Amino acid sequence: MRPVYLDHNATTPLARDVLTAMSPYLGGQYGNPLTSHRFGEGPRAAVEAARAEVLTLLGADAGEFHVLFNSGATEGLNHAVKGLAFASLDGGRAGVRRRLVLGGLEHYAVAKPAAWLAAQFGFEVVTIAPRRDGVVAAGDFLAAVEPETTLLAALHWANNELGTLQPVGAIGRACRERGVPFVCDAVQVIGKCDASEAAGFADVVALSAHKFYGPKGVGALLVRAGIAFAPLLHGAQQEEGLRGGTHNVPGIAGLGAAARAAGEGRRREAERVAALRDALWDGLRERIDGVDWNGGRATVLPNTLNVSFAGCPSAALCAALDARGFAISAGAACRSGTASPSKNLLAMGLSESRALTSVRISLGHDTTSHDVCAAVDAFAAAVNEVRAAN
Ligand code: PLP
Repeated sequence: MRPVYLDHNATTPLARDVLTAMSPYLGGQYGNPLTSHRFGEGPRAAVEAARAEVLTLLGADAGEFHVLFNSGATEGLNHAVKGLAFASLDGGRAGVRRRLVLGGLEHYAVAKPAAWLAAQFGFEVVTIAPRRDGVVAAGDFLAAVEPETTLLAALHWANNELGTLQPVGAIGRACRERGVPFVCDAVQVIGKCDASEAAGFADVVALSAHKFYGPKGVGALLVRAGIAFAPLLHGAQQEEGLRGGTHNVPGIAGLGAAARAAGEGRRREAERVAALRDALWDGLRERIDGVDWNGGRATVLPNTLNVSFAGCPSAALCAALDARGFAISAGAACRSGTASPSKNLLAMGLSESRALTSVRISLGHDTTSHDVCAAVDAFAAAVNEVRAAN
């Protein structure tokens, strides 16, 4: 049997059309897009076409946002937080607007730069805990967004481990009314949900191609024109001086193709995948005792299921499933046979023992109903085996 990949929130396979779109720029079209001779023309057109695709995906008009191509969302989110902070420094220290308001489940690429800015420059980080369903309540978040003192607010659209969707629209719009830049990590929603409202509520948006069937190591950061924003990488004049470095043209062409595909047929694919995910949940619940869905089904990405199996350590379960040909992941690292509890599950108020027995299953374009039936059988056998050994 072929191995079954159920870890699409970690990364996705490269789509065939994306590879096709990239290949000219790995071969004959090797010119630098910034050169004025003929070798630059094709690559430059590819970069600009990708820029247009990203703007369309997020519902933005040309000129409304800068699109900064980069190495992925870790760079993009570092740039988002530090770019706003560096532009606001007053005599080398945080100024009057020194507060950074963050959701309690943000990716490390947001939480760590914020903590670093606090330690180095005197910014204040206010982190808003999620409710037990994995959602940060808009009221709790906005209570911390004081217009006079808040430099930025950051909330991810969907959580990578739980799949929970956050109230980014309501929060982003309220932040805009208060004049506080709103940073949205859109990494996990692209291709899974309609992202075309982003331009209406966010000022800075990060995405990463490898999460939606594009290549690894390339992403885009959208920054609303007119916002005070500093570069992270100083260099030549690429990206209007906001991100130096020769463009990764094959990667950017791939990102553009993946962005186009993410919009096309998305709704039908989301329904297909959600039905498979629900069938998987029903199968797990019928066959295995002590199963809980972390976060619940109410507001969650269509492809994601985060479940705990009482008395079944997640690292051992991942390994037992891997041995049967099924790739899933624990909330935290699932490689060495040991795992630390997921910070996200703990932040939701789940116990350490529940966090240590939770796994993430994330479906994708290549998942079939046959995979789901086989996965239920494999889970039933693997959970029995791990429970018996513990
Ligand atoms: N934000 C979220 C929600 C993610 O899931 C990830 C990747 O796991 C990132 C940011 C970082 O993205 P990248 O892999 O492009 O650095």
